[in-house]
Amino acid sequence: MKDCLFCKIIKGEIPSYKVFEDENVYAFLDIANDVYGHTLVVPKKHYENLMDCPERTLGKIMASVKKIGNHFVKDCGFDGYNVFNNNGKSAEQAIMHLHFHIYPRKENDGIKFSQDFGKQEKSLEEIVKDFYFEDEKVKNDDFSAYREDCDVLYTDGACSCNPGKGGYGGVFLPKISSELQIEEFSGGDENTTNNRMEIMAVIEGLKLIEEKEESGKKEKGEKVKVYSDSAYVVNAFNQNWLKSWQQNGWRSSSGGEVLNIDLWKELLSLTKNREVEFVKVKGHSDNILNNRCDAIATSYYKN
Ligand SMILES: [Zn+2]
Repeated sequence: MKDCLFCKIIKGEIPSYKVFEDENVYAFLDIANDVYGHTLVVPKKHYENLMDCPERTLGKIMASVKKIGNHFVKDCGFDGYNVFNNNGKSAEQAIMHLHFHIYPRKENDGIKFSQDFGKQEKSLEEIVKDFYFEDEKVKNDDFSAYREDCDVLYTDGACSCNPGKGGYGGVFLPKISSELQIEEFSGGDENTTNNRMEIMAVIEGLKLIEEKEESGKKEKGEKVKVYSDSAYVVNAFNQNWLKSWQQNGWRSSSGGEVLNIDLWKELLSLTKNREVEFVKVKGHSDNILNNRCDAIATSYYKN
């Protein structure tokens, strides 16, 4: 932003004492020169504060904050650090460009940030009613960066114990050119297995897409890409297990009856008239959408 002090510092229009720089942040000594090593970390892109900074960007900024703080401890002889961040004028934000203060700290450095605010008149029991809130369902823009040029489903299934009470969860990401909204879906069973929930997640996702086609909200029979962490589901298609099961009258290579025939049949009929690409993702790691599906699935049977 044109008249922003920090934007000017980042561009080098105003001199500063640079401590660190990477692709996301610029870090420099606070001009106050109060606490020894007091550093400001600012994102290179202008955001006013946390309120308008996208979550994924914030994650990268915080990773850099941590990197810098850890450097103070590891390489500069400090024992710890404070990270402060003010959002809004009432919260004493002076420069309206998101920034984090890092104060390097040592045992007995004589600095004391904690202030005694006394006690509230209201009890915690009353106060929690003013503040408690529940996680919102996914908003359309949260995952929009993951949309592709075809419709996409992320799916996951989970079980409390196998077999036992289980749930499935999924996220439907309409193709980029579509006007449709990103949607989550979920469900479950009282007595089921993990594999059944994994298949159910894909079935319900494809049904959701079919419903939209039938109500005229999208064209029929377009390609769908399914991301699943279930090797069972992905290999059934990609390793042609389903084909050989059908050829063998739903007998597996060891001769026993294939499990979950009812669901496989349903899934086959849903994939009959469209191209469905199955992609295996690593489960429970850093795939944001797989993690989201897992959270929806497990919350289903926990409630
Ligand atoms: Zn700025």
